[in-house]
Amino acid sequence: MVSFGDSEFVKKVASVTQASYQHGWDERNGGNVSLRLTDEDVADFDDVSEVKETLDLGFDASALAGSYFLVTGTGRYFRNVIDQPNLDLGLVKITADGQHADLLWGYEDGAKPTSEFPSHLMSHIERLKVDPSHRVVMHCHPTNVIALSFTQDLDEREITRLLWKMQAESLVVFPEGIGIIPYMTPGTNEIGAATSQKMADFRTVIWPHHGIFGTGADVDEAFGLIETVEKAATIYSQICAQGGNIKQEITDDQLRQLADAFGVTANPEYLPE
Ligand code: 13P
Ligand code: ZN
Repeated sequence: MVSFGDSEFVKKVASVTQASYQHGWDERNGGNVSLRLTDEDVADFDDVSEVKETLDLGFDASALAGSYFLVTGTGRYFRNVIDQPNLDLGLVKITADGQHADLLWGYEDGAKPTSEFPSHLMSHIERLKVDPSHRVVMHCHPTNVIALSFTQDLDEREITRLLWKMQAESLVVFPEGIGIIPYMTPGTNEIGAATSQKMADFRTVIWPHHGIFGTGADVDEAFGLIETVEKAATIYSQICAQGGNIKQEITDDQLRQLADAFGVTANPEYLPE
């Protein structure tokens, strides 16, 4: 029997939750991940055909009807996923009416999908409109990004430019910039709608005083994006710790040269040509 629990999908999500926890971005149950899978991805497994439970989504996800999501459970600790993926992860399939999700594997001791599932699914819907290869939404609580949301104006252009200038890698990894929503109550459909609206233009969205959402075509890409943003924010924190007196920096001209060299298009609203 080929068990879904032994799949590369489960291994990859378990390993990224552990990596994020090791970074210190997932205290207690902080953070959640969802990985979109297709019929083809799950076809080879013998233990994903029986519906164990049908969950109410509380909003219309019909754009994702028939899609599968491997998703972390609400209240579950990233630290533990690697040792008990069958308890802390679930594989669900969005029903044809888009209102429910059928549980096919996992959550063996009664877990439910993350409280941020609305934000995840709404973000999946938006990202798929601009990138058919999109698969992953990841949320976590990176310390320096959160700190930045207290000391900086919540201005996408300003924060993007600040982060671009902290390291040569930033512009190459997130040339479109970073989206920011106002502070909102987590776990609501409202924060999901606001986040997904930003996902039309950005792959990364900051939740002020809370954390970040990163997306991508695979787990490594989504996590790498978050790591790169957080690294830039950490450099800024260190600059402030060293007195905050910036004597030289990456200039706008150098950012343009960087974009040319790596064949990326910087958001023209943030970096005029
Ligand atoms: P869950 O435990 O429901 O995934 O919530 C964690 C979190 O980070 C909320 O924003
Ligand atoms: Zn959170």
